[in-house]
Amino acid sequence: MENHGDSNLWKSIRDFFTSRDENPIEDVIKEAEKDGDLGQDVGRILQKVLSLETRQIKEIMLPRPDIVCLEENASIQEVAETIIESGHSRIPVYRDNKDQIIAVVHAKEILPVLLKPHSTATPLTELMHPPLLVPETKSIKSMLLDFQMKKMHLAIALDEYGGTSGLITLEDVLEEIVGEIEDEYDPPKPREITVLEDEGWLVSGRALLEELKHQLDIELSSDFVETLGGYLIELAGRIPATGETFQIKGYSFQIKEADVKQIHSVLIFPAPRTTDDNPDTAQSD
Ligand code: ADP
Repeated sequence: MENHGDSNLWKSIRDFFTSRDENPIEDVIKEAEKDGDLGQDVGRILQKVLSLETRQIKEIMLPRPDIVCLEENASIQEVAETIIESGHSRIPVYRDNKDQIIAVVHAKEILPVLLKPHSTATPLTELMHPPLLVPETKSIKSMLLDFQMKKMHLAIALDEYGGTSGLITLEDVLEEIVGEIEDEYDPPKPREITVLEDEGWLVSGRALLEELKHQLDIELSSDFVETLGGYLIELAGRIPATGETFQIKGYSFQIKEADVKQIHSVLIFPAPRTTDDNPDTAQSD
């Protein structure tokens, strides 16, 4: 058997366990990658797994407005139609409004009922399961363990007031480790940041400030919001209209598309553009 005694990786692991503070495991992995003891893919996956401990599910969940769900009095027929239209196999069920998700219904439970002669007579309540409700601040790692232990694949994230803030599935968590997983029914996910040909970027209003920092090196921070759209709304103190431009930290942020409720997309240019055709310009450092 090959003797690993002298390998830098094993030495680093020994060092890690003997002097933990001086040699955090992230550094051990980076060193091992550099030395060729670990393939880059393996190193990347290990780094991502480690990050799951400190990252929260609210960073990756599907936001509340995008949850496909049904009211508890919906018919079996309506559930079947929603499953077909959305392509999702688990549909949360609410009482009164989205803040009260009381159950989840699964396509596999609906199918056998639909084959019965009087399927429409079966009340939805007979086929529902209690939902897995979790705080949006839960760590992604702990969410993964919950999915595993409770044998469930979908959870509803709640904000601090107990309202629904999002939805997360096992697939969303696994994607954080191995990258995009698409099945044959998943609609293509819109790109959050698109590089434009004539310099600059087209960015979704939902892009996380964290992503802007990592991908574009644009550092915007806020104690209250996490997305670019939220940031610009906070800055303006209202929902900016399409065409409005903000000069922030040497970049020009032009609202490409917004409606009365949210900012859908923003054009970002690396240098301030002339404001001649953009009278609504705000400044911020
Ligand atoms: P499915 O294949 O049934 O859609 P997955 O767990 O594979 O379920 O999830 C695929 C993607 O669809 C994930 O990003 C997840 O957040 C999203 N998703 C799953 N169920 C719903 C739903 N009811 N409403 C909105 N998005 C959902």
